[in-house]
Amino acid sequence: MSKVFSLGTIFLMMHMNQQSYAQTPSSFQKKTGLKEQYQILPLGEVRPTGWIKAQIQENLNGFTGHLDQLVPDLIVQDDIYGRNRLSKKVKNKDVGALGVAGDWQVQFLWWNSETQSNWWDGYIRSSILVNSTADLKKCGEYVDRILSTQDKDGYIGIYDPELRYKFNGENGELWSKATLLRGLLAWYDYKKDPSLKSAIERAVKNIMDNYPAYASHPFKSDKPDVGGVTHGLMITDVFESMYRITGKEVYRDYCLFLYKDFSEQVLNEDAQYAKLMNENIALKGHSAHTYEHLRTVAAAYYASGNETLQSALEKFLLKIDPATSASGAAVGDEWIGGKKADATHRGYEYCSLQELMHSYLELFVKTGQLRFANYAEKIFLNPAQGARHQDGKSITYLNSDNAYYLKGGLNGDTSDKHQTRFRYSPVHKEAAVCCVPNAGRIAPYFVQHMWLKDETGFVNALPGPSELNTTLAGKPVQIVANTSYPHDFTIQYKVTARQQVFSLKIRVPEGVGSFKVSEAYTLENGFIVIRKQWNGTENVQVDFSPLMAKHQDVNGETFFTYGLLVLAAKIESIETRTKAYAIEGFYDLNHAPKSLVIYQYAGEPVQQIGDELRFKTQLWNPSTSKLEPVELMPMGQTILRQVTFKNAAIKK
Ligand SMILES: [Zn+2]
Repeated sequence: MSKVFSLGTIFLMMHMNQQSYAQTPSSFQKKTGLKEQYQILPLGEVRPTGWIKAQIQENLNGFTGHLDQLVPDLIVQDDIYGRNRLSKKVKNKDVGALGVAGDWQVQFLWWNSETQSNWWDGYIRSSILVNSTADLKKCGEYVDRILSTQDKDGYIGIYDPELRYKFNGENGELWSKATLLRGLLAWYDYKKDPSLKSAIERAVKNIMDNYPAYASHPFKSDKPDVGGVTHGLMITDVFESMYRITGKEVYRDYCLFLYKDFSEQVLNEDAQYAKLMNENIALKGHSAHTYEHLRTVAAAYYASGNETLQSALEKFLLKIDPATSASGAAVGDEWIGGKKADATHRGYEYCSLQELMHSYLELFVKTGQLRFANYAEKIFLNPAQGARHQDGKSITYLNSDNAYYLKGGLNGDTSDKHQTRFRYSPVHKEAAVCCVPNAGRIAPYFVQHMWLKDETGFVNALPGPSELNTTLAGKPVQIVANTSYPHDFTIQYKVTARQQVFSLKIRVPEGVGSFKVSEAYTLENGFIVIRKQWNGTENVQVDFSPLMAKHQDVNGETFFTYGLLVLAAKIESIETRTKAYAIEGFYDLNHAPKSLVIYQYAGEPVQQIGDELRFKTQLWNPSTSKLEPVELMPMGQTILRQVTFKNAAIKK
């Protein structure tokens, strides 16, 4: 009886909770828009050097530079923004996924637009960042070709006039534009061509003309599962960029309208306002959607200055915590499913790594809060490296912190013979060619946020080998960061300026215990701040001393970090080529362990070996009931690995 009563009470409380948080017009009311803490510098003003440049060049020599040749049917042959725009006549097309023919396929007709445009976005940014002449020429020709498809009314997109902006359900109207315009904006950042700016302005105006703010419903759908429609919310990335380029409030106000309409429709999406406000609703949705939508909630909050949206954003972040694994990746394989992270039994998608990292970087730009830079850096240095083959020719679509097998299924699971995502491939065509394009975006997005600007000067938000070439009050400023961070923890800054007063702010990453600075500095909110008049070329050296630390993941398993590097016991693997592509050097790869011991933690200390990123400890082998010496290294340098260790139930 009491049990029934208590369940009923809980239900009633949950129900009341939902009621009390139901959105009201005031939830989305514009108060005073908020100023962002930092400015993002134009693409190309921040360039990678050292290992990050080498990695982007490897990607260009690898999956990023060759994806169009690896899947020409999806990228080259389907001119989806031009002569192959979708009309009522198109019932089916090859989108690169295996599936049964049927009506449901109609919803995927936009897929190639995502594959193409996300790939181009990463390819354009990579080409600019390493200044690759041949690749830049190809990018320029692509931009010209896309602009030639723009209609007189400004429309750039994938639909014939009879279909565009007239949908009752699934469509890729906004998503195909979001992915494409992000790439065009990158090219504009680099070229500063006024005719390109005007073309983008007209494309964006065409959206606002056809989906007028507060007088249309871009997210209205007769079915709640409409992935293309809800991916389309990310057109807010484009509107935020337009706000930053032009300073016109109308662009970010439109983000507020889009988030309001998205929240008011019946959709299976986690980021809807009323769901975020209900703490009893865990994240369930498709992970890439959920983590990219974090940017929209932040955009709507900053556009409105409304504290109810700030509250929704904070509750959203709290819901991501339990889904976050030891490495900093947030799970979803491909669904988050209302369940927490698990180092062995949950996967995370490469798309989600890029989307969540980008969202955290945006939150850092807006708020200046250090936690977001730490989250973003942790994702890039750990799971993003650990899901990318070190030759730059393949990635895993899904991966996990503990990776004991990468043969298709999760850690050796063979129950679903169609599961091919947990392995290395340059395309992953059996599942979807979504993750490989995003794997080409993640390093360029990271690089663009390595240096930011505020009214006092320049901010090294993400330490690493890089070069900033910009201007301050019309005079050139160059800052070169010579370092191989995080392979070592010394950074030499070479600052070149002409009698200019500004601050050099350096973020102290999480996991740094102490540091030395060769110049006089102050410590402000976790930043080393050197404010002075800079003249000629001056050098500043910062030496970080990282901490070796022990942590528990969301399931109480133990893992170790050194600075922001998450450590792993590498498992030697046997690599098998399961498919060779027509382009030499590209393969689908399976990895199986040479021998597998799943270790446990028995309280033994971890010590660095010399000054290498190698660490020795002793871990408990439950099959021999013995402590064994084990070497740990950054998980980003491994393929098969064990990152988390159950606590051994032994008495020493
Ligand atoms: Zn993906």
